[in-house]
Parts: sequence; C-alpha cells; structure tokens
Amino acid sequence: MGARDTVSEEYTAQLQACMYQYSRAIYRSIKDLIDPYVAPELHLEYRRAVLEQCEQTMERLARDPLYFAKPDRALFQDIRRYFPITAQAEVAWAVKEGIAAACAFIEEQIEAGALDGGVARCRATTRKGKPCQRTPLPDRDYCPSHQHLERSKVAA
Ligand SMILES: [Zn+2]
Repeated sequence: MGARDTVSEEYTAQLQACMYQYSRAIYRSIKDLIDPYVAPELHLEYRRAVLEQCEQTMERLARDPLYFAKPDRALFQDIRRYFPITAQAEVAWAVKEGIAAACAFIEEQIEAGALDGGVARCRATTRKGKPCQRTPLPDRDYCPSHQHLERSKVAA
C-alpha cells in the first residue's frame, strides 16, 4: 500500500468522524419525538434503531456522496415508523435540515479538493456534469460504475 492510499484512508476516517457529528445532531433533534405511547423497553429499542439509521445514512453519504440520491428522504422513510403521526412533519423537517448541513459540508470538502487526496480519479463525468470522484479499478481509467466506458472505448 502506497503513501497515497494512506492519505486517502486517513481522510476517509476524518470525514466519517465529521459525519458522526451530523448524525448525532439529527438524532438529538428528533429523539424526544419518538412515539411516547409504546412500552419503555420498546421505546429504548426505537431510540437505538433511530440512532443506527442516522449513522448508517451518514456513513453511506461519506462513502458515496455523489451517488446517494435524496439521502434525507431515504432516512425519513427508514425511521418514520418510530414516530407518531403528529410528529412526522417535524421529524421530516429535522432530517432534511440535518442532512442538508452534512451535504453542504461534504460539497465544501469536494470543492476544496480535500476528497481528492492525491489519488487517481475515474475519468468519467457524472450525470450532473461533474467529474466522477470515484477511484478507478486497478490499472484502469474508470471506476466500477463507469467501467463500461472503457470497454466501449476498446471495442471502438
Ligand atoms: Zn466513475
């Protein structure tokens, strides 16, 4: 493993630590809205499930920021069943705000070139017209999602 991989790995760990802060923030803003009419044991279980979903969403966002479509909707769909109907709008809003803050942070990192870490990047352009940020396959110019581009180039 080269020095570049180490830089990239350290950066990923750092990013994930930041993401953890964002998932805690979302959890804190909605934990008191969790269905108060369920049994105490179940309530504890609900809290754990909500925290876990927040963390999983953030981990996925940190790993794959450009390919995770509508993370706020995904998280809300995963956790809405733990909240009473009357709290759903508030939960949806808190999730949207929390995810937006995390996305803004990640975008800043990408723009600052921090996610680059000096490692090779896939040569493809995403649907949004931005350069693909993924790591190419070994000895290839494209990442797993874009490897078909390489094949078509060879075929041509
Ligand atoms: Zn790619």
